[in-house]
Formats: sequence, C-alpha cells, structure tokens
Amino acid sequence: MIVVPLGIASATPTAIRHLPAVALWREGSVFLFDCGENAQMRMLQAGLKRSKIDSIFISHFDVDHYSGLMGLISTLQLQRRDKMLNIVGPKGIKEFVEWNLNFSGVTLSFEVNFVEVEEDIEEQRVLDEDDFYVEARPLKHKRFCLGYRFQEKDKPGKVDADKAASLGITEDDQFKELKAGNDITLEDGTVIESYEIVGHPRPGDSFAYVSDTEYCPNSVKLAMNTNILYHEATFSNQLADKARETGHSTASDAARVATEAQTKLLVLGHFSARYTNLHVLLKEARDGFYPTWLANELRPIFTDPSHERGIVEAKVELKDLTKPDEGNYRGGGGGRGRSHGGRDSRGGGNRNFRSRKPRGRDDRGGGGGGYRSRGGGGVRYDNNRSSGGGGRYDNNRGDRYGGSSDYNRSDRNDDRRYKNDDPDRFKPRYKNDDNKEEMPKRSISPRTSYDDFDRF
Ligand SMILES: [Zn+2]
Repeated sequence: MIVVPLGIASATPTAIRHLPAVALWREGSVFLFDCGENAQMRMLQAGLKRSKIDSIFISHFDVDHYSGLMGLISTLQLQRRDKMLNIVGPKGIKEFVEWNLNFSGVTLSFEVNFVEVEEDIEEQRVLDEDDFYVEARPLKHKRFCLGYRFQEKDKPGKVDADKAASLGITEDDQFKELKAGNDITLEDGTVIESYEIVGHPRPGDSFAYVSDTEYCPNSVKLAMNTNILYHEATFSNQLADKARETGHSTASDAARVATEAQTKLLVLGHFSARYTNLHVLLKEARDGFYPTWLANELRPIFTDPSHERGIVEAKVELKDLTKPDEGNYRGGGGGRGRSHGGRDSRGGGNRNFRSRKPRGRDDRGGGGGGYRSRGGGGVRYDNNRSSGGGGRYDNNRGDRYGGSSDYNRSDRNDDRRYKNDDPDRFKPRYKNDDNKEEMPKRSISPRTSYDDFDRF
C-alpha cells in the first residue's frame, strides 16, 4: 500500500499546504480519507487517477474536511464513471450529497453506496471486502468525528511446492483446499493436513487515519500495530491549552498514541497555518516516538517498499551532487561539453549554468585558442583577458589582431537563426564521446516533490 498525503493543512490552507486529504493506493484502487478543497487536483499532481477512487471516507463535518467532495463527485460524473462509489461518513453525509446533487439538478451516472455512522457506536466495520476491511471509531473532537483503520486481511501462507510434489499432490483443486486451510485425502487414503505444505499466514498491511482529535483511547485502538499511522499534529506542546480548547492534538499527543499503539511509522499532518517550520513539531514528536515523519504533500509513503517494487519508477537518475564530477550539468561536468581546447582564462568554467549548442568556432577564429569555445560551458563576451590569437568578440580588435574580421557579426546572425528556428533551442545539449550531439542524461535532482515519479 502507498499513502499519499494530498493536503496537510488544518482549517486554513497556506500557500503551500492544502486542506486535509490523504490518499491510500492499494492494488490499483484509491481510498480517499477526507476530501478537502483541491483534493482532486492534488490527486492529479500526485499521479493518482481519479477514476481509480474506490471509496471516500469523511471524518467529520468541519468544512475543511469535506469541501472538495462535491467537486470531486462532479468530476467523476463528467468522466462518465460507471463503477459504484462508496462514500463513508458520519450520519448526514447522504443527505448532504443528495441535497447538493438535487440542487444542481444532477443525476449521477454511477451508483453511490452511502455508509453512515451513527454517533453512539463504539466501533463499526464500514467496509468489508474479501481481502480488506475498514473500521471506524469515534474520536474526541468538538463535533462527532471518526477515525479509520484500513486493514488488509491476512494473506494465505506460501505453499511449499517441492514438498507438495513429494507427497503426491498435483491437482489445482487440492492446492486450493489446502490453501484454504482444509485437509485433503489422496486416492490411496492418505490424509494431508494443510499445515504440512502451507506456511504461516502472512499479516496484511494496515493504515490508520486519525484526524481531528484530542488524545483518546480509540485513536490507540485504531492505530494498534499498524504499518502507518497518519495522525494530526495541529499544535506543538507550547499550545497544548489551545489544542484542548479546540479538540486537537499536539505533536506529543500523536507520539503518545503511536507509542501506545506500537505503530511502525507515525506520519504527522494537519498542521496549523502558524507553523512555517514544521520541524518544531517533528522534533517534539520524535522525542516521544522516534520513527516519525512529517507528511509531505504528494510524497508517497510505502507501507512496505518491497511489496510495491516496480509500481513507481524513478524518472530521473539521482546523482550525488556533492561530488563535483558526477556529470550534473550545473557543475560543468568535467569538460563533457567543452570542445576544441579553447583556453578558459578563468579556469574551470564551473560557474556556467549549462552548456550551449556546440558551434565549431575554431575554423572561424583565425588561430583559435584565444577564446573559450561556445561548444562548451557557455558564452563569454568579455574575452579580453585572453591574449593572442584572434577570435575576439570585439570586431575591431579582431581586425587589428588579424583574427576573423566578421566574427562578431556572423556570430550574432548565427545565433539569432539558431534561436528562432531550432525547436529544441531551449534544451541543453552535450557532445558525446563521438562528438555527436545528444540530449543530456537527466541527472538532476527533482525540483518538486512529485516530478520524480511516474503515474501509478
Ligand atoms: Zn480539521
């Protein structure tokens, strides 16, 4: 399973934090926990297809937690969805959605299965499928609020094929029975018990979504032994009073729940807009529970990376940028693109941002060598420091020193033509070892938290 935080703000969004929503990806389906404004756009940016949404779980009716719901439903309608959609939430969610649809005169093309949770429950299994279930429990907030736990059911143990063969088990039906935990009787009357060839069942992954709440025992129950606990941490301990007053948790509260529940990983979210530096909260939580991360919008978190190998592939090759010669094009790349031995009077050329199209200047320069070739690390117009040779950019000097007299002019014309005509003109270029142009390998670090992953 992959957890993708889509919005990590609390009630007030900031320029970089969106209203609450967390997506859980599992075997091609998406489960959405809360649906703040912008959740559907953040899904797109995260590479999650909206058509893959299986269920939406709303925690409570504070507007920031469901303000994106109608917009998302409208998009699904426009996409001509025909698959059923589960919408789970406190009692009233059905009325809210139906009233809105009615108000706009929309008849949905797909069926919605509403699961409404009454206020007096202790616990309710809101979804129960063959291979997973979702459980809801009331939390402790200013209004009725639900926390959720998504639990994969145990997977059957691995079959020892060699042993099965040695015992004479060959039929698919026999394997099925054994995997289901039943004993079988072979033709000669031998009884084979399931445990003889089927290993221990493997526990399923789990994820708990706990937002908005003060510390309460139900949070711990929801989070018990989960792979990932997503817990709100609206305030730091300094504002513990405010947290109580508003029915929220501090980062220490989140750590306390994680410790008591023995979760494997605590992910903090739902941050108050007042925190520009979230590491205050991280540090506080880690004092109580070390395996804690800050939720980072659109940055996927894997319940078990080894399960999900191959689902997302890195689009860029990450390089160690601390090594000067690793070939990242900002660093000059050890002369990769520099051509023809132009002497660089300033040395290194590492200050150039990127290399330009190789131009083969040498045959114009009349003696060459006096200026930096443009094929390499960039253009220097102030070449006065290099002496001798021709090839001055300054036309007069070029004449005077016997260099190429029309250097300046032709160069500029060339340049203009190149800029206007070449569709690839903005792309950086390199020469490879055979002196042929090639696109650089994308050995850059990702610029946003989502451009290093393919869609999944
Ligand atoms: Zn909230």
